[in-house]
Amino acid sequence: MTFAMSEPARKSKLLKGATGDWEVVIGLEVHAQVTSEAKLFSGASTAFGGEPNSQVSLVDAAMPGMLPVINEECIRQAVRTGLGLNAKINLRSVFDRKNYFYPDLPQGYQISQYKSPIVGEGEIAIDMPDGETVKVGIERVHLEQDAGKLLHDQQPNMSLVDLNRSGVALMEIVSKPDLRSADEAKAYVSKLRTILRYLGTCDGDMEKGNLRADVNVSVRRPGDPFGTRCEIKNVNSIRFIGQAVEYEARRQVDLIEDGGTVEQETRLFDPNKGETRPMRSKEEAHDYRYFPDPDLLPLEMPQALVDDLKAHLPELPDQKKARFIRDYALTAYDANVLTAERAAADYFEDMARGRDAKAAANWVTNELAGRLNKEGKDILASPISSSQLGAILDLIAAGTISGKIAKDLFEIVWSEGGDPRQIVKDRGMEQVTDLSAIEKVVDDIVAANPDKVEQAKNNPKLAGWFVGQVMKASGGKANPQAVSDLLKRKLGL
Ligand code: ADP
Ligand code: MG
Repeated sequence: MTFAMSEPARKSKLLKGATGDWEVVIGLEVHAQVTSEAKLFSGASTAFGGEPNSQVSLVDAAMPGMLPVINEECIRQAVRTGLGLNAKINLRSVFDRKNYFYPDLPQGYQISQYKSPIVGEGEIAIDMPDGETVKVGIERVHLEQDAGKLLHDQQPNMSLVDLNRSGVALMEIVSKPDLRSADEAKAYVSKLRTILRYLGTCDGDMEKGNLRADVNVSVRRPGDPFGTRCEIKNVNSIRFIGQAVEYEARRQVDLIEDGGTVEQETRLFDPNKGETRPMRSKEEAHDYRYFPDPDLLPLEMPQALVDDLKAHLPELPDQKKARFIRDYALTAYDANVLTAERAAADYFEDMARGRDAKAAANWVTNELAGRLNKEGKDILASPISSSQLGAILDLIAAGTISGKIAKDLFEIVWSEGGDPRQIVKDRGMEQVTDLSAIEKVVDDIVAANPDKVEQAKNNPKLAGWFVGQVMKASGGKANPQAVSDLLKRKLGL
């Protein structure tokens, strides 16, 4: 393993202690459920929410004499993932048995990959809100089986087991200890999830447990070798990952500054208290008695398979972002926001084609995103389609409606649907640029406010007050520029 120990500490990320600054070091092991119809070594379904134990083959239940048969789709998904993480694909990998006892693990071992994983070293770039780009090394990605689930709250005097998840394929994506703050850890998981979703290799649904992270945290003085780490198991939301890092780093700093030492251990995060607490002392690899699974030959893949998967990868977030900056002249910030979700990027592109891209980006990231958020809706379920929002943009660009009326129109289309052009016609929402129609209103307001007219002659900024009055009197439909021009003339400015 290569640790970049000499790399200078990222100053802004340092944690203040009573005795000076500390650097937080974080490495994540992310478990991502592979998107596939069937399990890693059996044909049983992976669908979510089935009746307990309704998706369990004889292999998953570990009936004697059953043999695992590898699911090729899971292999392809792992390779796609490796390619998406700019990682080395190992054409030969080995499945091992990781032996331990737990009631939700009928085999008494988990089939995993130990010394020879399917994917080797790679790298992800994460974009921080302050504009900094942080490169995070990937140590490896390996395939393994998920376990079943114990249900402790169904019966008063016994626990039940549901084996539907038993044998479902997981990818364990292990980062190098390259992260230096809670915010970096959160940004890393978001970016990883975005990449997996673009690839279609994991749906990234953390609420269903389809993506979860073991969070390794240690602290050190800047420039020192790595400190002893604690591993916080199975954290299942991005917000909790941030909280777990913050709590754990502070705990370790306080402990060391009080003269104690950090013991390597496995801890649990309690979301209600925002704390981590000890679970067990850290197990060592030799505790698991890893050995190659005698039921499975080493996995050998032809280079042609990898080449073929590579040739058919979709455009990935970083590529899309670069293209948006280049082709649509978007800021890095807007491009980042728009490419975080593939559906949002598609929506934006549909809308931006042949239109002012900056305006399209603004509408998608502000008005639309805000409205979707408020109702907890996904952009795929947006009541306003990209062509409807595009039509609103066209109406603004043509000067048919003002920006203010456009927001009202947005609300109408959002709740009632329909063709924005037709709605503007039917409801007389066009902005008034016809000066003769405005002139009467302007004259009335000027006549009614002689004192203000005098003041405005000395202080032309006060013309703004008149513009406001005229806009109000016109129900927001007057063209502000036309009003302003006309007023200047009337007030003699
Ligand atoms: P294990 O297999 O025992 O869990 P690994 O060496 O594979 O240990 O590391 C697991 C994770 O812990 C990796 O994500 C790695 O980046 C991280 N890690 C290793 N050393 C440290 C450290 N000193 N501080 C924080 N994270 C660490
Ligand atoms: Mg580990």
